[in-house]
Amino acid sequence: MSDETKPVTQCNQFGCTLSAVFRFTWPGSDEAGICEAHVPKLRAICDAMGLYVQLIPIGAEREEQRE
Ligand SMILES: [Zn+2]
Repeated sequence: MSDETKPVTQCNQFGCTLSAVFRFTWPGSDEAGICEAHVPKLRAICDAMGLYVQLIPIGAEREEQRE
């Protein structure tokens, strides 16, 4: 038996059962996770709303992506 805490979160998008690869903080909400497939969708929503969301990679310390 292992009581090791797993840092992996599940994607918070409705109906999605994939593992989250990024964490993000939605204004006014707690931190949530999102899978790779939903990242573009999240970005599109934020763009449409004029919001900025910071995506933090889970499980790997990576440098921020530059666009
Ligand atoms: Zn997802």
